[in-house]
Amino acid sequence: MKFAALYLVLGVLPAFGGSREPPVRLYVQFQHQPPDAVLDAIRAELQEIMLPSGMDLDWRSLDAARGDEVSSELVVVHFKGTCGIDNLEPFDGYPGPLGWTHISDGEILPFSDVNCDGVRIFIQRDLLRFPEEERPAAYGRALARVLAHELYHVFAKTRKHSSTGVAKAAYSVHDLLALKLRLEKPQCDLLRASHSHGANSFSAGQ
Ligand SMILES: [Zn+2]
Repeated sequence: MKFAALYLVLGVLPAFGGSREPPVRLYVQFQHQPPDAVLDAIRAELQEIMLPSGMDLDWRSLDAARGDEVSSELVVVHFKGTCGIDNLEPFDGYPGPLGWTHISDGEILPFSDVNCDGVRIFIQRDLLRFPEEERPAAYGRALARVLAHELYHVFAKTRKHSSTGVAKAAYSVHDLLALKLRLEKPQCDLLRASHSHGANSFSAGQ
């Protein structure tokens, strides 16, 4: 029996490269390319938020996708509008949804949009109170939180919200600009469970 167990361990480990799950591909398209400082902040904050869920995100440009890459899971992300902070105004506004995920016949589809202009309008009055050099990172973090919320719907395959954290139904300006906003443990557990069951398999370009 010992021999059989050893054989299984040896057989399984190399195939998975240890205990890591295969990466989840994000195919990302910006309507207008953002400044590097904003882009870096989006990616860093998204990685931080998703880390406790055990999901390893592989960020790709949709424009560079060849269409023959097969992923265990993927999502296509469109950043709409201008994801920059060149023209901040000292007033805020209600811009409508900050992000959304497509649904067809009740099925959550792996297509999410982030409303860059909307997020900027929503937080710009408070963002102007930040030192100028900190604004791109703060804005990038806000965009990442909106994206993480949508990815939670896609990967957990649920329309439900939590009362606090990234998966709450509506963000305040404070949520978006606070130093930290994370997924709560139940939502991380849900993501971890959905992800480890293999879920969807899509091929880019289909
Ligand atoms: Zn939601």
